[in-house]
Parts: sequence; C-alpha cells; structure tokens
Amino acid sequence: KVDDGSNRHVIFRSKLPDLPNIANHIPLHTYCFENLSRFSDKPCLVVGSTGATYTFSQTHILSRKIAVGLSALGISKGDVIMLLLQNCAEFALTFMAASMIGAVTTAANPFYTAGEIFKQFNSSNSKMIITQAQYVDKLRDHGEHNPKMGQDFPVITVDDPPEKCLHFSMLYRTNENNIPSVTIDPDDAVALPFSSGTTGLPKGVILTHKSLITSVAQQVDGENPNLYLKQEDVVLCVLPLFHIYSLNSVLLCSLRAGASVVLMPKFEIRSLLELIQRYRVTVAAVVPPLVLALAKNPMVGSYDLSSIRVVLSGAAPLGKELEDGLRSRVPQAIFGQGYGMTEAGPVLSMSVAFAKQPLPTKSGSCGSVVRNAELKVIDPDTYSSLGYNQPGEICIRGPQIMKGYLNDAKSTAATIDEEGWLHTGDIGYVDHDEEVFIVDRVKELIKFKGFQVPPAELEGLLVSHPCIADAAVVSQKDDAAGEVPVAFVVLLNGMELTQEAVKDYIAKQVVFYKKLHKVYFVASIPKSPSGKILRKDLRAKLSST
Ligand code: ATP
Ligand code: MG
Repeated sequence: KVDDGSNRHVIFRSKLPDLPNIANHIPLHTYCFENLSRFSDKPCLVVGSTGATYTFSQTHILSRKIAVGLSALGISKGDVIMLLLQNCAEFALTFMAASMIGAVTTAANPFYTAGEIFKQFNSSNSKMIITQAQYVDKLRDHGEHNPKMGQDFPVITVDDPPEKCLHFSMLYRTNENNIPSVTIDPDDAVALPFSSGTTGLPKGVILTHKSLITSVAQQVDGENPNLYLKQEDVVLCVLPLFHIYSLNSVLLCSLRAGASVVLMPKFEIRSLLELIQRYRVTVAAVVPPLVLALAKNPMVGSYDLSSIRVVLSGAAPLGKELEDGLRSRVPQAIFGQGYGMTEAGPVLSMSVAFAKQPLPTKSGSCGSVVRNAELKVIDPDTYSSLGYNQPGEICIRGPQIMKGYLNDAKSTAATIDEEGWLHTGDIGYVDHDEEVFIVDRVKELIKFKGFQVPPAELEGLLVSHPCIADAAVVSQKDDAAGEVPVAFVVLLNGMELTQEAVKDYIAKQVVFYKKLHKVYFVASIPKSPSGKILRKDLRAKLSST
C-alpha cells in the first residue's frame, strides 16, 4: 500500500502552543525529580490501605538506595528487571531506581498465569523478579520453565519472603551515595511495557528516556500545561501501574508536577470511595469500567466526592451517555478523556479542558493531539491523508513514540513507517475544533453488507438504558450480511428485560444496519485490567455455542 501522491498531508496539531523546549536529553529520573527542591517535604507516595506516606525527598533517597541495592545484586545498565506487583510504593521506588542505573523495568499483571509471566520474563530477558509472597508459589509450580527458582535469578518480595526469596529491605539498606555512575543515552530503554493484549498476544514495547520524558512534558510541562497538575493535587492511582496509562499519566506526571499519589492495590468500589473521601482526592484517572461503576452504583451517593476537580478517562471508548451519567455524580469536576496506546508513549491526545487555561470541549471527544507532536488521519486502504470530520486510521509522529517492538523488526516496520508515523489501528476523526474522536479499532468494526458498525457506539447506547449494568457488542457470522452485530447484556440487580425490548431500544436510535440481531443475557462482561472489553473472548464464546 502506498500513498498515491495525490493528497497533501493534512496534519493536525495541538490547540495549545508547542513547548519551546523539552528536556528530553537528560535521564528520566533526573527529569522527574528536577523540581524536587520546591516540594521536597510534601507527601509524594501515599499508601491508601495503611496511610504510610513518603515525602518527595524520601521517595528520591529511597530510589537512590534501591538503585545501589539493585546494582549490588548484579543489575547493571541495560539489564531488565521484572515487577509483578499490585500498586504499592515499592513499584514506584524500584522503577525510578532502575532508571538511575540505566536498567529497564518490565511490569506484568501479577494475576497472570505462570506461563504468561515467564513468557514475558524470558522474552524481555529479565534478570530478577520483584513480587509479593502470594505469587511466588505460582512461579515455583511452573518448573519446566524455571527449574531453579530463586537460584539462577533473584526473587525479591515486598512482604515476608518465602523460601529462597529475598526481602525487599535488602535493596534499600544501602548507602545512597554509592550509586554507580552510568552514562545514559536519551535513546536507551527505560521501560518495557507490554501492550494489553486486547487484539492478540501482548507485544513488548521499548520506551526510552526520551520518549517518556517527552510524553510527560507534553502533558504537564510549560506555561499552560495540557493536564494541569498542581502541587496541592491528590491524584488517585487505582489503575494498575503495570499498565502504561497509570505509570505515565498518574505516577510520572505527578512526580514531575509535585502532586501526591494515593496508591490503591486493586479496584473495589467501597474502598475506592472511602479513599477518595479520606484523602480528598482531586484528580481521578479512570477507565470506562470504573466510570460505569461510578455512574451506576448506588453506593456512590453516600460518599463525599466533592474534592474531585478532574476526572480523566482513557484506555477504551467511553460513550457520551455514560459520560453524562458520571457528570451527574461529580457535577463540580471537569470531565475529559485522554487517548493512549502503549506504542505511542502512550498519550496521543488529551482533553484541553484540563489545561491551566482551559478551553471548551465536547462530550465524547478524546481531546486534542498533545503538543510537540503531529497527528494525521489516513484512508486505511489507500494511505492518503484525510481532512476534518473524515474518519480514518489515526497516525501519530513525535519524539514520544516507542523506539520499536522488542526483538521484532518486522512488526516495528509494519507499525512505524519510513516517515516516522506510528499507525494506531484505531479509526477516528478530528473535528473543526481540533478535537479527536475515536470511532473504534479497525479490527473491531463489524461489516454488515459492507456497512461499518462500530461496537463501541452500540455499547454506549446499551449502557445508557436504566436497566442495563454493562454490555458488549461483537460480530457474528451471517450468511446474508456477512457479519451482524449481537450484544451481550448484563442487567442491573433485580431488573428484567426481554431480548426484544433490548433490540427495540437500539433499533429506535440507529440506522438499519446497526440494529442488533441477538441479545445474550450474561452475568458479566470479560474485561482486561486496563479497562478494555475482551471481545475476542466473547467471539470465542459465540463460536463455541
Ligand atoms: P494489543 O495491542 O496488545 O492488542 P491494546 O491495543 O489493547 O493491546 P493498549 O496499548 O493498552 O493495548 O491500548 C491501546 C488502545 O486502547 C488504542 O489503540 C485504542 O484502541 C484504545 N484506547 C485508548 N484510549 C482510548 C480512548 N480514550 N477512546 C477509545 N479507545 C481508546
Ligand atoms: Mg494495540
């Protein structure tokens, strides 16, 4: 596929002026702690469950100590360490520590099976695992992949170490001044996140010091930051830090801006509401399943959420209807979306309603492309560049994008073209106010007799029904139409609906080819920890019945 040359490139830019310069020639930890002296005694990391608090200077010193501890265990520049942790202070400290010695962090979901964990461990060539005692047995059971657990590589636990494991304290019982001096190149890797695996197997993504600094700067730096975080802000960290959204937009952005981060190990609605109330959370980074819970759960009414000034949703499509549902629960808050993709560093666009000098935005928009970057929309078949309001594949270019996929030059070349454009696989458009709207993934579009049906749109309509708690739409093979949309629906407790009622509800609101052909009532919708509907699991369910 080549550009036929008939089209000029239409390039979309941020509504906010570019940053005059970005300090992306320095190492990531230096950048994140650059303004430390302005807020050294302020709380930096707050452990929600225990109340334990680390100030910025404590966070900095502990990171330095752990850097010494890591190198005492033989970790040196270029080595990869694996974190297998729920959100905790040790995650943040170790990530920064690794950066300080030029090492690279790869983080995985601790709920993964041993097989999934060792796949990532081996392909990233990790030298160590830092985890919690409860996950160690799982690792041991997987003997064939790892016969000498804890012998050929150290396994460190942040709580009481089981046999053959080391305790995390040995990493920080060091003299921080013994930190080895390393030369870090801006193009050296610092993070090795794996994409969510929504469409297939997770892919290892190389993010460098330069890419992460650029991405953080695009969000929180400058006279008029796109995501204005103040030193008084208390930022909720409930999304898993092993996913790049939380690592970047919550942790790294807060470190840079001097905001406090309240860490929550896993999502549970009651403790989440309690935490928001207790710590007077001001900025809530969420994903659509969390928005769904906040908009629909009756418990929300009994908590004081008045401290929240910003709600940022990202990682998956969020319908206008649900957005409005949440707005009524936290009316004082500015609501907006960010659009990210691990390979893009990850943020492509961010609501300009969050800016220091906020601009008006529209419901359903994913914000405006970040500063110091270029976005274009192309026809996925001809590759020619499209103008305003024309949906096509979104591409992004700038110093924040990944260096490439780990050990996969072929996939890298298929994703980043010779001109440096990263092709996202997402269909979207930019409107006349420079706002980005995501329609759906190219791969998820259902093709009814050649007409395109975006499942995300139908899901948005379904969850706006007062009796529906959650929903997902997938394609089903059909002899006449090729593919037809069918829905999986979860009813709210005590509610009843017939299949016909659900079909009618949608049919009244959409063009004929988007009508639902079947409705399956289910107890829950499978979702990834990063907040995405696992449609491939639902499609598998369909084909097995
Ligand atoms: P894999 O590539 O391994 O299948 P993944 O694409 O789900 O997994 P991520 O990098 O976590 O892995 O997700 C990026 C994708 O998430 C984007 O390509 C896009 O489809 C979706 N996404 C992110 N933010 C938004 C948003 N605000 N609205 C709609 N979709 C979003
Ligand atoms: Mg992807």
